[in-house]
Amino acid sequence: MEKLVSLAKRRGFVFQSSEIYGGLGSVWDYGPLGVELKKNIKERWWRSMVHDREDIEGLDAAILMHPKVWEASGHVSGFTDPLVDCKHCKNRFRADDPRIKGTPGEPTAQCPVCGSKGTLTAPRMFNLMFKTFMGPVEEAAAVVYLRPETAQGIYVNYLNVLQSSRQKIPFGIAQIGKAFRNEITPGNFIFRTREFEQMEMQFFVKPGTDLEWFEFWRQERMKWFAGLGVHADKLRFHQHTKEELAHYAKDAYDIQYDFPFGWQEFEGIHNRTNFDLSRHQEFSGKKLEYLDVATNERFIPYVVETSAGADRTTLVVMVDAYHEEEVEGEKRVVLRLHPAIAPLKAAVFPLVNKDGMPELARRIFDDLRKRYNTFYDDGGSIGRRYRRQDEAGTPFGITIDGQSTQDGSVTVRDRDTLQQVRIAADRLAGYVAERIV
Ligand SMILES: [Zn+2]
Repeated sequence: MEKLVSLAKRRGFVFQSSEIYGGLGSVWDYGPLGVELKKNIKERWWRSMVHDREDIEGLDAAILMHPKVWEASGHVSGFTDPLVDCKHCKNRFRADDPRIKGTPGEPTAQCPVCGSKGTLTAPRMFNLMFKTFMGPVEEAAAVVYLRPETAQGIYVNYLNVLQSSRQKIPFGIAQIGKAFRNEITPGNFIFRTREFEQMEMQFFVKPGTDLEWFEFWRQERMKWFAGLGVHADKLRFHQHTKEELAHYAKDAYDIQYDFPFGWQEFEGIHNRTNFDLSRHQEFSGKKLEYLDVATNERFIPYVVETSAGADRTTLVVMVDAYHEEEVEGEKRVVLRLHPAIAPLKAAVFPLVNKDGMPELARRIFDDLRKRYNTFYDDGGSIGRRYRRQDEAGTPFGITIDGQSTQDGSVTVRDRDTLQQVRIAADRLAGYVAERIV
C-alpha cells in the first residue's frame, strides 16, 4: 500500500490536502492524472446508468438541503447517540449496544466484535454530519448540514423527476456528488475520507417487485466492475447480517475488494423499502404516492439503491492495476489500468530531438490529442520515458524514429505485452479507438 501511495504522489494521482501545512486529516486532493482517472470512472458509470438505459434519469442536487431532510432521514437523531470505539479492531458501537459486556471506558469492558478487554473508549456524543450555518449572523442563522449521503437529494426530487421526465415505475434516478462524514476513525489513504464522492442510483419499484429488482441490480453492479477489468477473484459479495443492516434496509449486500488492508466494501446494494419516501411524506406533509394508471393503485414506491464510492472505486482500480515485474533484468512498475479509464490514452515520443523527428512527433501529437488525452515527452532516454508512462498507466507509447520521417510510419508499444508494432501514422487514431472501449 505504501508503494501505491508513493506512486500516486510521484506521478500526480493523489496528494494529501494542504500538504505544505502538514496536511488535513483524511482529506485528499486529486492531481493531474488522478482527476482524469476518477473522471473517466464517473463518466463510465454515468453512461452505463443514465445514457444506456431509458428507465434512469440523471440529477445533480445541491449539497446543502433543508435541515428537516435530515430529521426525516433519521440522520439527526440516528447519528447523535453516544458512541464508543474499540481501539483494537476499530469498530464503533452505540454505547447502549446490548452486546457490550461491562461499562465502556473501563478496563473490564469487552468489545463485542474482537473480544478485547479495556479497548472500548468512554461514550462520546457524536454526530457524523458536518454542521455549518446559513445566513449572515452565525448565532441567529439556521444550522444546515453538509449532506452525509447523496440519496436524500434524490428522494426529495423524486416527484419532480417523475413528472418532468414522464417516467413510469419502475424507474431510477442517478446522481454523482460529494458527501461528507465526520468519521472518528478514517484512514487507509482514499478509502475512508471525511469528504468523498458517491455514485448513487435509486431505483423506484412497486412493492412486491423489490426482491426481483434487488437481485437484478446486485448482479448488474458486479458485472460493471468486471467490465472495468477488476480481477474477479478479488471481488466478492458480503450480505449484511441483521446486526449490520441499517435502520432503513430490508436486505443489503456489499461488494468487497481484497485490498492490501483486507476485504472491504466499496459499493452497497440496498433494499431501502419505502422507508425514506414514507418519512419524507410524513415530515413534509406532501403526498409522495405513485398512481399506477393501469391498475388505479396508489402506493409509496420501494427503493433499491446502488451506492458506490467514486474514491473507493478509484482506489480499487489503482490497487488492482498495480504490478511490479522484472523486464530484462530491471524492475518495472506498471499500472495495468483498463484503457477506457486510463488518464492518458497515449504518449508520443520523438526518438531523438533532431532530424525532423520532433516536428513530425508534434504534428502527430497535435492530431491525436484532439480525440484523446495524450502526452508529449522528449526528455531523457526512450526507456525512461516508457517507464514513466508505465507508472501512469498509459496504454500506448508512440515513437517517431528515423524511418518515420521517411515513410510516415510509427511504432506503437503496448504497455502490457511490451510488443511493438509499426503502423502508418494516419492509422493511429483508429488503432487507439479500437483498443480503448
Ligand atoms: Zn474490538
